[in-house]
Amino acid sequence: MSDVRNVIIIGSGPAGYTAALYTARASLKPLVFEGAVTAGGALMNTTEVENFPGFQDGIMGPELMDNMRGQAERFGAELIPDDVVSVDLTGEIKTVTDTAGTVHKAKAVIVTTGSQHRKLGLPNEDALSGRGVSWCATCDGFFFKDQDIAVIGGGDTAMEEATFLSRFAKSVTIVHRRDTLRASKAMQERAFADPKISFVWDSEVAEVQGDQKLSGLKLRNVKTGELSDLAVTGLFIAIGHDPRTELFKGQLELDEEGYLKVEAPSTRTNLTGVFAAGDVVDHTYRQAITAAGTGCSAALDAERFLAALS
Ligand code: FAD
Repeated sequence: MSDVRNVIIIGSGPAGYTAALYTARASLKPLVFEGAVTAGGALMNTTEVENFPGFQDGIMGPELMDNMRGQAERFGAELIPDDVVSVDLTGEIKTVTDTAGTVHKAKAVIVTTGSQHRKLGLPNEDALSGRGVSWCATCDGFFFKDQDIAVIGGGDTAMEEATFLSRFAKSVTIVHRRDTLRASKAMQERAFADPKISFVWDSEVAEVQGDQKLSGLKLRNVKTGELSDLAVTGLFIAIGHDPRTELFKGQLELDEEGYLKVEAPSTRTNLTGVFAAGDVVDHTYRQAITAAGTGCSAALDAERFLAALS
């Protein structure tokens, strides 16, 4: 049993690094798979983070994640910048396989693989992320005071983002590729009643324009093919998220939207010794601080589970 770890953590966003920090400080010597390409998680793709408590003047996303990484490492977390490609979480000893085919064993596993926001798939979209293009009104709305903003999408999230943004913005234009909304009636009515919100129907974004900063959008009417310009300095893309749960299908229970199910308020999944935290579980709050909070809970749950084994 000497090659069996106490705990393996899959994922390195705020949830993973917080779980790593807590389990490391509990002398559990966690092994953390950070991911091959996106070590540090979603905040590596943003600029200023102003709502993570403790940073009075804000902090750049990558710097915040470097700090979290360093803090976990300082207490003995072992960090591997690699992907997990398969898992067997069903037995008493869990196995996790990396890209080289090496099998790692542990008594407990914490899953913090996050979720991926859906993209429009346009050339300039990633380059202008944090420079006018955003996926999170709660995170970035404040930066767009008195500006003209477009929100893309027709579901509850799009309506919620638009209504929230209208508090700050000069105008909010919702661009939707159909002529009716998917959002609940209540959310639709709130958006329709808001004098700052207007709609462009049957339209999609054909081009995201701007060099260092977003300067506008080219829209295409999906029925007529007609192109038009929309002068905005903010673009919020609200067309959904895909939780990264592919690896766990058939082992861990998922909800109807594909997120991992836990016995809230604990982080226990349906499998003994397997815990989950952060955006891979959460389709409601999706914030760095909530991910870090549940990462802490998962570490404490794992710690208590391991203590009960011995
Ligand atoms: P993530 O941060 O998504 O991390 C998941 C990690 O899992 C990644 O490192 C990934 O590489 C890893 N992973 C996935 N699959 C595997 C695998 N098979 N093997 C190994 N590793 C794997 N929130 C705020 O509070 N304030 C903000 O200002 C803010 N700004 C944002 C700006 C942008 C552009 C985005 C996209 C999000 C922003 N958010 C913000 C939201 C915040 O980033 C997320 O809520 C938070 O990062 C979720 O943390 P997480 O640990 O659950 O997942």
